[in-house]
Formats: sequence, structure tokens, C-alpha cells
Amino acid sequence: MTDANQDEGTPVSVKIRERLQAAKQRFHSNDNIADFIRPGELEALLDEVTDKMKGVLDSMVIDTEHDHNTDNTARRVAKMYLKEVFAGRYVQAPTITEFPNAEHLNELMIVGPITVRSACSHHFCPVIGKIWIGVLPNEHTNVIGLSKYARLAEWIMGRPQIQEEAVVQLADLIQEKTQPDGLAIVMEASHYCMGWRGVKDMDSKMINSVMRGVFLKDSDLRREFLSLIPRRS
Ligand SMILES: [Zn+2]
Repeated sequence: MTDANQDEGTPVSVKIRERLQAAKQRFHSNDNIADFIRPGELEALLDEVTDKMKGVLDSMVIDTEHDHNTDNTARRVAKMYLKEVFAGRYVQAPTITEFPNAEHLNELMIVGPITVRSACSHHFCPVIGKIWIGVLPNEHTNVIGLSKYARLAEWIMGRPQIQEEAVVQLADLIQEKTQPDGLAIVMEASHYCMGWRGVKDMDSKMINSVMRGVFLKDSDLRREFLSLIPRRS
């Protein structure tokens, strides 16, 4: 029997999971697994998730056969998860060109607000908000274009996330790419699981921050950063 024959009938998600397990790689909801997906498998995964979503709708006793509003919902939801809102799990990191800091910039630089869209890993409800990034470069820091911060944020947020972990993941990524002396990130977001369900409070926002390097040691710098970001609340 050839490999292809042996593979037949094995769901693609099982194959990807086996590779992750063999490599002892974590695959939590906010982990990127692109390295373990082979060409063409994302399309097969889309078919698999569509079938499973169809099963969810069936179990919810929705007549998708006769209800023209939901007859293609399983496919749409599968596509939305894999290719849109959670694409940050399945695609490689955006390519970012880093440049040496030729101008020897060493002043506090603030990027933001960057609009971020994510979903909580508890309910898969939207988490929509803004982030501000403060960077204190040194002469060895790599410089990346302003729009690149937004692309890195989009990649990290495009997974079922927990806000506290999302900002840490983003800080790790920016730290690795640019190696600044200091890095600060503040995220303020509405969690729709608080508005649509739960306490039904649409006005509450969650704010959290990560401080790295000199931002941890220098309280004046920290204050300067926080005073320069124009939050409404
Ligand atoms: Zn939630």
C-alpha cells in the first residue's frame, strides 16, 4: 500500500496534529501552526471544518436544507475562521524587512493607535480594540516601517486569544525583530462576550500593558509613554 492509500480517510486535522505532537510543539488556540501544514492541506482543512460546522448546525436543529439563509453558513463560518479571523494560526508571519538604525535614533517612538481585531478563546466572541506601542531604540536596534507594526499585530491577534497573552506574544515578536532597549505595549479592548452575553455590559473595556527593558527600570520613561497615548478613559 502506498502512503497516499494509507492516508486515505484520515482527517487532515489528525495528520497535522500528529506532526505537532511528534515535534512536541504546543498547539493552543493562540499558537501559530503554519510550519506543520503542507501545501494544499489548508484547503482540505477548510472542507473538514465545513463538515463539522454543518454538524453543529444540524445538532442545533436548524434546517439548513430548506432555510436559504443558513444553507451555506457552515462553509462561510469555516472560511471566516481559517482564512480570516483566525488566519494568524495558519499562515506564516508577515515578512518584515528590518533596516539598520542608520540615523542612530534613540528617542522614544510611539506607534498607535493600531486597531486590533481578535476573538476570545473562551467564547470565540470578538475582541475589538486598540494598541499603542512604545519603542526606545538604540543604535543597534533594527528599524521597521510603521505599517509593519500593524501587520505584526494583526498576525498575533488573528487567533483565538486571551488579551493578557496576546500582548505578551506581540511584545516577544517585536522584541525579537527589532531588539530595542525598551518596549511598551498598551492594549485597550472591548470583549463582546461581555456585551452579547454574560453581564451584557458593552461599555466595559479591558486594558493591559507589557513593559520591557528600560520601560521597567525607568519610571519617568514609563510615565512619558503613558501620558502620550491619548486614551479616552
Ligand atoms: Zn469570552
